[in-house]
Amino acid sequence: MVAGPQLSVDLTAVARNTALLAARTHGELMAVVKADGFGHGALDVARTALAHGATRLGVTSLAEAWPLREAGLVAPVLSWLNPVDADFAAATAQDVEVAVPSAAHLGAVVAAPGRTRIHLHVDAGMARDGAEPAAWPELCRVARRAELCGAVEVVGVMGHLGCADDPADACNSLGRNRFAWAVEVARGAGLRPRQRHLAATAATLTDPRTHHTMSRIGAGLVGIDPSRTTSLAPAMTLTAPLVQIRRVRGGTSVGYGHAHRTGGSTYLGLVPLGYADGLPRVASDRAEVLVRGTRRPVVGRISMDQLVVDLGSCGAEAGEPVTVFGPGTAGEPTVAEWAGWAGTIEHEIVTGLGARVARRTVAVPHLRSLA
Ligand SMILES: *Cc1c(COP(=O)(O)O)cnc(C)c1O
Repeated sequence: MVAGPQLSVDLTAVARNTALLAARTHGELMAVVKADGFGHGALDVARTALAHGATRLGVTSLAEAWPLREAGLVAPVLSWLNPVDADFAAATAQDVEVAVPSAAHLGAVVAAPGRTRIHLHVDAGMARDGAEPAAWPELCRVARRAELCGAVEVVGVMGHLGCADDPADACNSLGRNRFAWAVEVARGAGLRPRQRHLAATAATLTDPRTHHTMSRIGAGLVGIDPSRTTSLAPAMTLTAPLVQIRRVRGGTSVGYGHAHRTGGSTYLGLVPLGYADGLPRVASDRAEVLVRGTRRPVVGRISMDQLVVDLGSCGAEAGEPVTVFGPGTAGEPTVAEWAGWAGTIEHEIVTGLGARVARRTVAVPHLRSLA
């Protein structure tokens, strides 16, 4: 029993989301568990996803890959976004596949001992990660030569879409076409990449033309659909006890900068969660929490460690829990609402929760033995 704030992660939601997404594509499903599984626990999300339809795992840096192997997971793991001096020898030794976005990266991978499995990464139009089109044909040629010498095995070609959350955006067809071109160029260079992957959550849910042989799914596993077309199950519930309650008169100034003044006499409740725990300060005076089954407003500035709720006449007592967010099924705010109050996306809320919040996991019944 935890007395303070508690984040509960419902892995049955992750299981349901994985099964739904796996059923939406004919290709394989890579569970992207970067950023600690979008804040939900990388190992928990990885195990749950692998048991419900995912066949592979994806992370950004190699540092995120090691714990998956240390935990004994044997599924293929792909790491993208590494500097050229990353430990590619260790990647090969740990059987971790790496994305190669440039000739310099390819050179570093070739120089490392062992035969590394690589995915050539093309920039499908974001000017972000991946090789520019001008550099792609040469990257494919050099990769083919490295393959013939046994230094690498090119198992995949990958790209990423910049506007998939809006299926109507013309940027999507540009991305699809550039990816198709990149695969053709790779084949023309003699490469035979078995994995060709472009889609993340939004494209997987909205555009089968992006599916190819695999989807890389992160947000969707934890209940976030950036395209807002599909109802997925949010997995997080954040609660905290009211540590103190006070009765105040109308006109009472609340918190730093006296940014709020009570309208009439009311009860104020103190909740021990603040921006250090990941509740955005910019949501001050907009956010709500659920107290005794009703929505109550957060008043005044959200501080580093605490926030104040106007309890009105709801009768709540010190020690009672309030729900900051959850799936929304009991009337509590959702992560999507918090994102709206903060002018951001759900991803930023779930990945930004602080380390001092106690965590608890609700296991999928038949997976409990694996936990
Ligand atoms: C994070 C990430 C994904 C997963 O995207 P979601 O929209 O969260 O499913 C896929 N591919 C790359 C390259 C990523 O960085």
